[in-house]
Amino acid sequence: MTSEPAARVAIVACARELERLGLNHGTSGNIGVRIGGGVLVTPTGIPPHALRPADVVRLAPDGVPDPGQRVPTSEWRMHVDIFAARPDVGAIVHTHSPEATAAACLRQPLPAVHYAVARAGGPTVPCARYATYGTPELSASVLAALGPEGNACLMANHGMLAVGPDLVAATALAVEVEWLARVVRLTRSHAAEPHVLPDGEIGRVMDRLGTYGQPG
Ligand code: 13P
Ligand code: ZN
Repeated sequence: MTSEPAARVAIVACARELERLGLNHGTSGNIGVRIGGGVLVTPTGIPPHALRPADVVRLAPDGVPDPGQRVPTSEWRMHVDIFAARPDVGAIVHTHSPEATAAACLRQPLPAVHYAVARAGGPTVPCARYATYGTPELSASVLAALGPEGNACLMANHGMLAVGPDLVAATALAVEVEWLARVVRLTRSHAAEPHVLPDGEIGRVMDRLGTYGQPG
């Protein structure tokens, strides 16, 4: 298993790479890596260019952060729950990449228009049902979509998530799913209509965004 300092450096490099590839932008998305006796996750609300290895947050396996660190990603529970349920998973990459996110607004799985779908662990890339970001409900929905063997899922009206034995594999799969979503779109030429969130949900998200990011 990678040492904690090396994993922190790799997480920062991965966050920058995801932005360079156009898979994340601003403070969208987050990363998790399993380490001996715990989990490392990205901090909430810090863009990749400002992210330093020391900003990466260490959590106990049950999600309790070590004291005196940055505030962890708002999706920390999703990372902790996946690592707990899936001993095969060593790293998690969550993105708001445009092609996968657009496909996720249709709330349909990505079909097998290309064999590369198999990399995600099944005949389709499933779409996890919508829940407000940062909630236990979203974590449960992503876990259900991944199931015992899935390696990737869309997240309805939100984005995409890919897992792997390590960060290199999870990142490569996220790139693959983004590419597959693009191929599906080109294949269909937008034949289906996206779902639109109701006004009440937009209000709830706006309320949450009021306290998003580091305190102060
Ligand atoms: P964080 O900055 O809290 O990781 O939030 C970004 C995100 O993608 C929430 O789903
Ligand atoms: Zn997100």
